[in-house]
Amino acid sequence: MTESSQTIMPQSQLAEAVLSESGQNVNLCYQCMKCAAGCPISYEMDYKPAQLIHAIRLGMDDLVLNSKTMWLCASCETCTTRCPQEVDVAKVMDAVKITALRRGIKPAIPQIASFYRAALANIKKCGRMYELGMIVGLKMRTFEFFKDAGLGMKMFKKGKLKMIPSLTGALRTWSIFSRVKSIEKKNGAHDVK
Ligand code: SF4
Ligand code: SF4
Repeated sequence: MTESSQTIMPQSQLAEAVLSESGQNVNLCYQCMKCAAGCPISYEMDYKPAQLIHAIRLGMDDLVLNSKTMWLCASCETCTTRCPQEVDVAKVMDAVKITALRRGIKPAIPQIASFYRAALANIKKCGRMYELGMIVGLKMRTFEFFKDAGLGMKMFKKGKLKMIPSLTGALRTWSIFSRVKSIEKKNGAHDVK
């Protein structure tokens, strides 16, 4: 954290929420656009990462929380690496998603939110990604039962989709989930659905 981060504090409620969820102070951003220039997905985003950061600072809740940008973010951290102000933009993207869900705002790209939920539920249950279980969980959420069926079949034939999950290391993962839950409980945060 740079020295200036101790003095420039968030003024919008949304910036405060982002700070609380991610530890990132968006007021450090001076709009150099390095994050946007390096982002491999920015061409598909409705607002570039730097624009979203600016809108958070301005407290434009509706624009930010209904944006597609954070749902399209691939968490590649290119923006984070490039930012001269050490703003972890990838963490800001996560914080904005969490804030939107906490406020009951429907994700702008529901299929991506469904993927996150299916993947997380799967890891929570099996201790690591069990691809076949994740695919079933995703289909149950999206009702797109035949989408990518051909691709799935090809993977299955090549032995890429295991019939039975491996629980190796599951205890460790379960203990991480349990620790996170107790930290959230201590901080008064409720689960995002
Ligand atoms: S982490 Fe997200 S916003 Fe940042 S460069 Fe990668 S895709 Fe773009
Ligand atoms: S790279 Fe950092 S300082 Fe530059 S626009 Fe992005 S968040 Fe702001």
